[in-house]
Amino acid sequence: MWVMKVGGGCLRNAEAIRQLIPVLRLAYHEAPRLLVVSAIGKTTNKLLQIAEAAGRADLGQAQSIYELLRSEHVQIVEELLPEGLAQQLIRYLDEKYWKPLWQRIQALSQLSEEISIATDGILVYGELISSEIVRAYLEAQGITLAWIDARRLIVTDGYYPEPSVIFSASQANVDAQLMPLFRTYKLVLTQGYIASDLRRRSVTLGREGSDYSAALFSNMLNAQGMIAWKDVGRLYSADPNLYSGAQPLKELSYSQAAEMTYYGAQILHPRTLKPLREKRIPLYVRPYFDPTAEGTLIAEKWVEPLPPIRTQRRELILIEMESIYLSRLSMGDVLREMENEGIEPYFIQGGVRTMAFAVKASLEAVERWRTTIPEGWIVQVRQPVTLHTILYPDDSFSLPNGEAIYYQRLPDRIHWIAYEG
Ligand code: ASP
Ligand code: MG
Repeated sequence: MWVMKVGGGCLRNAEAIRQLIPVLRLAYHEAPRLLVVSAIGKTTNKLLQIAEAAGRADLGQAQSIYELLRSEHVQIVEELLPEGLAQQLIRYLDEKYWKPLWQRIQALSQLSEEISIATDGILVYGELISSEIVRAYLEAQGITLAWIDARRLIVTDGYYPEPSVIFSASQANVDAQLMPLFRTYKLVLTQGYIASDLRRRSVTLGREGSDYSAALFSNMLNAQGMIAWKDVGRLYSADPNLYSGAQPLKELSYSQAAEMTYYGAQILHPRTLKPLREKRIPLYVRPYFDPTAEGTLIAEKWVEPLPPIRTQRRELILIEMESIYLSRLSMGDVLREMENEGIEPYFIQGGVRTMAFAVKASLEAVERWRTTIPEGWIVQVRQPVTLHTILYPDDSFSLPNGEAIYYQRLPDRIHWIAYEG
C-alpha cells in the first residue's frame, strides 16, 4: 500500500492536472494506492477571503470572489474534459457543492453559527470540489477508482484552527470504510486537509494540512511508504528562491526534517512527520512535474553530514523583558504562563536582568500573558520579526551584518532575530 499526496500547486490548472496520468503510471502502479488531493491552486485562500467577507456581512464582496472561484473551476473542467462530460460535471458540481456553498456563505453572513466552525464549513469545499474534478478526469482517462469523503474517516476534537485528531475513532473509520474499498479497487481517491468533529461537523486540519492527512492515512493503513508529490519537488538546504546556493537534500532523518520544518522550512506541514515516524514509514518528496527525477527521502536514518541548512520563521512577535530592580522571576514561570495562553516560543534568551522571546501567538494572547508579569519588570512587545536559523553551521558562516537584534550560537545551530521589512 502506498499513499500519495498531490498538493494544490500541482493541480493549479488543467494542464497540471493532466500530469496526474504520468505520475500515476510511474509510481507503484501495481500496488494498492490512496491518492490524497488538495484544493486547486490558491482556492483555500480565496475561500478564506469569502468567509472573512461574509463574516463582516459584506455579502457583495463574498459573492464576487465566489463567482470568480466558480468560473475558474468551470474553465478547468472545460479544458480537461470533452464537451458533454464537462457540462455534466459542471451541473453536478453546481448542485452538490457550489449551491450549498453559497447557502453556507449566506448563513455565515447572518452569523447563525460560531464563526470558526462556519469558516471551516466553507473551507472544506475546495478539497471536495477538486477531488471530484480529479475523479472525473481519471475516469475519463479509463482509470478505475473509488472516491471517499475524508470527513467520514478523520475525526478530530474540533478545536479551531488546528484540531487534534482522535486516533482511535479515525482508525475505526479507516478499517470499516476505507480498507474494504481496496478489495475492489486498486486506486482510492480522497481529500487532504478536511475532517470532521465529534458532532460530524466539517473541520480543517490547519493550513497546508494535506501532507498531514496523507501521513495520518499512511499510518492508519500501515502503508509501505508515502509520496508527497510537490511543485518544488524536493527539500533544499535553503529556500532556492532566496539563495542561489541552495543544495538539494537527498536523504535526511525524520528528526532532521522535523527540525527544519519547525524552524520554518515551508515544504512540509510540521505535523506530518510524527504519524510516519511512529510506524517507520518512509516519506519520499518528489517533483510532480518531473516524476522520474530524484527527490528527497525522509526516513529513520540519521544523515551526516548535511550541508548547513538555512530556514526562516516569519511573523513572530518579539517580547523583551527587563527587570528594574533585579526583582526575581523564574523563566519557568514565564514560559508556563505563555503555555497557558497558547503562546509558542521559538527563541528564548535569558539573563538575570533581561529575557527575550520570539513567539508565535496572537497579540491578544500576548496582552493576556503580560498581565501575569509581576511589577518591577518592563515588557516590550514588537512585531513582526523573523527567526533565522542555520542548522549544522560550518566555519564559512559570518555574523549577519547589522540585521540581528539577538544572536545565539549553539554547537549545532545558530539563531538570530531580525525585523521584517
Ligand atoms: N488547501 C489547503 C491549504 O491551502 C490544504 C493544503 O493545501 O495542504 O491550506
Ligand atoms: Mg492548498
